[in-house]
Amino acid sequence: MANRKLVAGNWKMNGIADDLAEARAIAAGAGEGVDVALCLPATLIERASRALPGFAIGGQDVHAVASGAHTGDPSAAMLRDAGASLTIVGHSERRADHHESDAVVRAKAEAGLAAGLEVILCVGESLAVREAGEAIATVAAQLADSLPGAAAGLTVAYEPIWAIGTGKVPSVDDIAAMHAALRARLVESLGEAGAGVRILYGGSVKASNAAEIFAIADVDGALVGGASLTASDFLPIVDAARSH
Ligand code: PEP
Repeated sequence: MANRKLVAGNWKMNGIADDLAEARAIAAGAGEGVDVALCLPATLIERASRALPGFAIGGQDVHAVASGAHTGDPSAAMLRDAGASLTIVGHSERRADHHESDAVVRAKAEAGLAAGLEVILCVGESLAVREAGEAIATVAAQLADSLPGAAAGLTVAYEPIWAIGTGKVPSVDDIAAMHAALRARLVESLGEAGAGVRILYGGSVKASNAAEIFAIADVDGALVGGASLTASDFLPIVDAARSH
């Protein structure tokens, strides 16, 4: 049976209090039949959670340990305390900017799940890897090395690095092949429960390409960056997910 779709927005380092009007419009238009979430800058999580009760607000990263000398990092309990119900881990921008290894990403995923957060674990290949014909092997290895031990609360996002914020999107066949490979690895590692782990596609998803992407087998939704910043761009993507 197909998994219920999730469309999650990643605002990255965008958004101040004035922008909560867009979050409000997104929550108001999200409707039924599909899960919708916004992963906001840490500074907005609490205000958004208070302003939008019942709407899923997430963080964009979480530290692997519960507390201590880690200047600038939020713990899972802090995210929960601020009202977040989910968090992204292992986004390629963090893997690059903060040199996060698969082991670090796995520890973050474990910490988020242990604290009761839903976790969106990102994996994806560079253009050089794609052009070398090694995308599936590389991303499968990345998944194996960053996968937490439990499936409950876990979502995986396949985000080819070269497609993020570029307007470029892999072919339908390439997305299908990657999602099928990730599904097989999830079932191999997590058993039956691996079939219920949602696999999102992320990378330049827009209203114009969302329906085609959501029609692909084992695409259980999308992680959306740029097009999640406004209700007018984001809600048509949510609507496309609802139609599948
Ligand atoms: C992302 O940041 O996770 C992302 C997919 O960005 P964009 O949709 O802008 O490519």
